[in-house]
Amino acid sequence: SHKSSAQIRQDFLDFFKEKEHLPVPSAPVAPKDDPTLLFTNAGMNQFKPIFLGEQSGYKKEGETWKRVVDSQRCIRVSGKHNDLEEVGHDTYHHTLFEMLGNWSFGDYFKREAIRWAWELLVDVWGLEADRLYATVFEGDEEDGLPVDEESIELWKEETDINPDHILKFDKTDNFWEMGETGPCGPCSEVHIDLRPEKERAKKPGAELVNMDDPKVMEIWNLVFIQFNRQPDGTLEKLPAQHVDTGMGFERICAVLQGKRSNYDTDLFEPLLTKIGELANVQYGDDGQADIAMRVIADHIRAVSFSIADGVSPGNEGRGFVVRRILRRAIRYGWDRLNLKEPFFHKLVPVLSKQFADVFPVLDQQKAYVKNVVRSEEQSFLNTLGQGIELFEDITEEKDFVTGEEAFKLHDTYGFPIDLTKLMARERGVEVDEEGFEERMQEQKKRARASGKFNVDQSSQKDWITVTDTDEFIFTGYDELTSEARIK
Ligand code: ATP
Ligand code: MG
Ligand code: MG
Ligand code: MG
Repeated sequence: SHKSSAQIRQDFLDFFKEKEHLPVPSAPVAPKDDPTLLFTNAGMNQFKPIFLGEQSGYKKEGETWKRVVDSQRCIRVSGKHNDLEEVGHDTYHHTLFEMLGNWSFGDYFKREAIRWAWELLVDVWGLEADRLYATVFEGDEEDGLPVDEESIELWKEETDINPDHILKFDKTDNFWEMGETGPCGPCSEVHIDLRPEKERAKKPGAELVNMDDPKVMEIWNLVFIQFNRQPDGTLEKLPAQHVDTGMGFERICAVLQGKRSNYDTDLFEPLLTKIGELANVQYGDDGQADIAMRVIADHIRAVSFSIADGVSPGNEGRGFVVRRILRRAIRYGWDRLNLKEPFFHKLVPVLSKQFADVFPVLDQQKAYVKNVVRSEEQSFLNTLGQGIELFEDITEEKDFVTGEEAFKLHDTYGFPIDLTKLMARERGVEVDEEGFEERMQEQKKRARASGKFNVDQSSQKDWITVTDTDEFIFTGYDELTSEARIK
């Protein structure tokens, strides 16, 4: 008698509604007015002007709200937050996921955020207190920030957490930043130890648990937004203090439904069933096929919602990210599930039905989205088989792919360089990426000389035009096939 995912989402919204939060809709996955961000990577993105003090709160029908609650669809395949290499290999990182959040815009702060998080998890949802851990920020010299003693005290005062379960971590984990610049602050996270009783140690403190254990999962991040990171790296104090929380919806569903993997929840079950039907396989029967099925089930969500939110597959920027994700899914289907005809678009109706009441934007455009996916996969399937043959010829007798060959795979067969690299890795061969880049540049020059407008199909540089930061490198596909990493 586990709760459905729909009920769990509703529980979250209702819990905070009772605490005077206004339920608000998710923003699209592609931020319309923020060229510094490729995709919405957290719930806080749409509220950036409020955190920066440009707006006093959330405006609705002439009223200003200081507390809101929502479920934001997020995509993390690029920039500071890039989880692509984990997707399908572990069981709890997705390209697109829902982030449940409660928000205080200059209203309540750490005390209420901590108290309510505990109340929902333990009192309402009945999670075992003994399995929960809270992490706090240990401070940072470079930024001149001290240990977050306040949060440590509040966890002790406001909850009945085992004090040994309050752990300090550095800024990589406990200082949340949206990107290179912008609103940020120390955070306090809730992790859950899902190891069987007999595996759980009885030593105190950090010894109790290894946070890198795949059965120890982060579920909720409570961010205390106090600063604005400047382009020169310094922190500027914001005029007000805000609360920004993000809970991984698919993860909490897995926990509350007693599943070991997000893919075993009712969120992914309909997709995996449909993929199984299309490929005539059963999820769980074969490790290699299972990875492909998880990747496909995951990727259709990112691809469909991107298109519904106005980002169609294309040659540059956001569109190229979508194209790469789609082609990656198609290749997995071809290679591991023997799916040689268009199949990906057939998942769109399954997904749109599932999300009709949650994110209606997909259901409203399902025919359009399905068509875009179908024509995109059809065009890739026209060359995929031949491209794979060429790749096999290339790697038959030598253990590397030259820049020229990678360019041909790209230019003639539509293989993004990441796909070539992924296949090379599977086969244990190298790719001359520099040589490839040179040829891309030459092509660009030729096109310019001939007066044609040319878009670079695979240079990572193009993506910078929408991310606006030199830090941005799309490396996500590189390690996708290290199957050894399955947890
Ligand atoms: P992780 O350490 O697991 O990568 P994170 O610290 O990067 O997570 P946050 O930025 O703190 O994540 O985001 C808030 C919450 O969103 C996390 O606590 C987690 O539950 C969830 N989350 C983050 N990334 C993903 C993802 N790729 N897929 C599903 N859920 C995610
Ligand atoms: Mg992460
Ligand atoms: Mg984390
Ligand atoms: Mg986190």
